[in-house]
This record gives sequence, C-alpha cells and structure tokens, in this order.
Amino acid sequence: MNAVLIDGKAHALALRQRVAGAVKQLYTAHGLQPGLAVVLVGDDPASQVYVRNKARQCEEVGLLSLEHRLPATIALPALLDLIAQLNADPLVHGVLVQLPLPAGLSEAAVINAIHPDKDVDGLHPVNAGRLCNGQGFLVPCTPVGCALLIRSVRPDMAGLHAVVIGRSNLVGKPIAQLLLAANCTVTMAHSRSRDVPALARSADILVAAVGRPGFVRGDWIKPGAVVIDVGINRVPAPTADDPSKTRLVGDVAFDEALAVAGFITPVPGGVGPMTIACLLRNTVIAACGARGITLPLGL
Ligand code: NAP
Repeated sequence: MNAVLIDGKAHALALRQRVAGAVKQLYTAHGLQPGLAVVLVGDDPASQVYVRNKARQCEEVGLLSLEHRLPATIALPALLDLIAQLNADPLVHGVLVQLPLPAGLSEAAVINAIHPDKDVDGLHPVNAGRLCNGQGFLVPCTPVGCALLIRSVRPDMAGLHAVVIGRSNLVGKPIAQLLLAANCTVTMAHSRSRDVPALARSADILVAAVGRPGFVRGDWIKPGAVVIDVGINRVPAPTADDPSKTRLVGDVAFDEALAVAGFITPVPGGVGPMTIACLLRNTVIAACGARGITLPLGL
C-alpha cells in the first residue's frame, strides 16, 4: 500500500490565502500593513532566487516588502548599522537577513543584532528560549511548516513517538520543541547517535533534517508512520541531451518510503513551499505583537 502524499504546495497556498485575509482585516480594522525587510548580502545565486520569491509572495498577500542589497565586501559594523535602522523603523515589523552570509561576516553577530520581536526567522536566542519555555512567539519558519503539515494528518499527537534526525538551530531543535509542545515523546538523533535506523523504526512521526540524499531507507520506517522530509539536496540526473542536468531530492529514499509510510512529504513540493508561507505568517504575528493586536482568526 502506498503512503498518502502530504501536499505542501496546497497547504502553503491555503496558508498564504489565510495570511492575505488577515492582512486585509488588519488594514481595515487597524490601518496596519505588516512590513518585512529582507537584507541580501553578496550575490549568491540561490539566495537571490529566495529573496526574489519572498518579495513576490509578500506583495501577493498585501505585505509591505522592502529589500536591501549590500555588497559581499560590506564590513560587519555597516551591516549592523542597517539592522539597527530597521529595528527602529516603525513600518518594518519583520527583519530577515538572508543566510548564509559571505565568509568573514559572523552570522551569530547578525542574528543577535535583530530585535527579537522583529526576528521573523526565529533564530535569535531570545526566540529560541521563548520556544523552549512554551512561550513561542516567532518560531523558525521551516519547523512551523513541518508542524502544520504533521497536524494536518495527525491533529492529536499526544503520546506519539516523534524522532527528529538532525539537531540544527534552524531545523532540528525547533521541530523537536514544537513536537514536544504537541505532547509527543521526542527523540533527537544526530551524527553521534547510536543505531539511527533502530531509533527511526520506533517513530510514529519521523522528521529527517540531515542534508544527505536518500539517507533514510524504507526499512527504517515504521509501517504507517508520518514521514516529514526536510532535506533539499541537489544530485546529478544526467540525460542524453543534458549530461549536466540535476534534480532535487530529499533526505528520505522516497520510493522505498512510499511503500511503508502512512503519510509522506515529497521533495520538491512538501516542506519547501511551507517555509515562505510561514515567513509571511510570522510577519503578521510580529506586526500584531508590536501593536498589541490579537492575531486574526485562521492564523
Ligand atoms: P545542518 O545544519 O547541516 O544539520 C544537519 C544535521 O544532520 C546535524 O545535526 C547533523 O548532526 C545531522 N547528521 C548529519 N549526518 C548524520 C548522520 N549520519 N546520522 C545522523 N544525523 C546526521 O542542516 P540543516 O540546516 O538542519 O538542514 C537539513 C536539511 O534540510 C538540508 O538538506 C537543508 O537543505 C534542508 N532545509 C530545508 C528547508 C526547507 O525549506 N525545506 C529549510 C532549511 C533546511 P551533528 O549535529 O551531529 O553534526
């Protein structure tokens, strides 16, 4: 029997529509237009594509979108100055500095300089602490997207065993916190864990955030489990016409997993589309927080 696909594209579209409705409501009732400032340092091609997509999706849902492009040679103090200006700008409710930064610029210094209440990436230590303490406010976007997808197929997660492979600040740790908050029993696995396949086999909910193509094999999956594949890995897929062709694959051996899992996210089209949708949602959350307004229903 094949697993049911969790359609991240459809969920992301529905979330963007809810965000657009909330933005309209905030403007009508409070004259508030949530604003997101995105800072791009350098000319990394993948980052340029991400930033362009963020700006387009911001505009589509009615958010104010501001973009700052800086040369890779910028010195850290100048970058921190810009962040201080954005922290003080009342039109800006969310500040996002596109990562990775060019070599030589400290990501920690930049993340820590963003005001925690404008930190729509949710990476500031204050927001990590809020999440751990059960006071989650601005939570990293990809983990929130994963949690929404899991909730769509397992509305009650109480008592389920969730295994998260990967412990990055960006993905693994916040997902584990969200699953704990949803009353799962959570196990975190990483490169020093013993017998990751056995840990994975005990999971009702398995989240793979490793960055290794096809790392999770079909026989690591408990029959019927919910499998969330966060990985985005570009691998060679040469054709006769184009020997340099590549394609995106996840951290899960998809065809093998499909035959065992109950529900699974595809790559692409699973977790990926949720990330920007959750960024838009975080911008609305930040704007409501700044003005002391209750978050509109549906978000
Ligand atoms: P990361 O910072 O490189 O973290 C990878 C994690 O995997 C680490 O905790 C590492 O353990 C663990 N790991 C590595 N090899 C392992 C092994 N053999 N066994 C068990 N654990 C192992 O990566 P990340 O930023 O979390 O991203 C993970 C993946 O998600 C990447 O493919 C990335 O492209 C993708 N991603 C997707 C989105 C999206 O929007 N869909 C967003 C962000 C990231 P140690 O801590 O012990 O080294």
